[in-house]
Amino acid sequence: MPLNAVIAVDGPAGAGKSTVSQRLAERLGGVRLDTGAIYRAVALVALEGDISWEDGASLGRVAGELDLRFLPKEGGQRVQLGDRDITAEIRTPEVTRGASQVSKHAPVRAALLSLQRGLGAQGLVVAEGRDMGTAVFPDAPVKFFLTASAEVRAHRRWEELREAGAEQPFVKVLTDQRQRDRDDSQREESPLRQAPDAVEVDSTGLDIDQVVDHMAQTVREALNVGTT
Ligand code: C5P
Repeated sequence: MPLNAVIAVDGPAGAGKSTVSQRLAERLGGVRLDTGAIYRAVALVALEGDISWEDGASLGRVAGELDLRFLPKEGGQRVQLGDRDITAEIRTPEVTRGASQVSKHAPVRAALLSLQRGLGAQGLVVAEGRDMGTAVFPDAPVKFFLTASAEVRAHRRWEELREAGAEQPFVKVLTDQRQRDRDDSQREESPLRQAPDAVEVDSTGLDIDQVVDHMAQTVREALNVGTT
């Protein structure tokens, strides 16, 4: 599909955005833009630099100086900060909580806006995050809001952690996720919201293929391109 367009995919933690966006991008011949990884990278740098989660100005500077690149790798992407591979480090529970903390600051969100828009201008881009359709790419021609029940989302995250060898009790995963959902949807700056023109996709009870099929079909119809 030789197109220049952003497909916005927003939704709460654990709704399956990453896997679905990766697969949708592959299916449509585009690339995935993982904006959560950008907030995670800011949190990692802040942790290593001993910057407080409350120091919005310093966190904003970190965001403005971020030298971040996404490189393709088998079935996914490698996240590179300068010449350092941070793909695994940004997935720890500590960085996960930190990402949610740094993301509430206006200077951080402002600094990341142009980085995200630049990364979004690379042909067909499936951009996933919390504010793709509402703030970063408000003119995206197709927007999705991906959801699933809180239990299903926490169960997926629990399984992911277990497979990565970092098992945690299910109740802890569910509690952390509820906290993150609250923080993300109640913050003042670009809270997690469904854009009025977004298509809601509830993945509870659906498998990945069904979700991706449905989304790919929606994109093709919206952009008026044939099936491949
Ligand atoms: O999607 P992921 O779980 O990797 O995102 C980590 C955190 O980054 C989220 O909990 C959210 O606080 C923040 N985020 C955001 N806006 C985005 C993407 C992520 O605020 N567009």
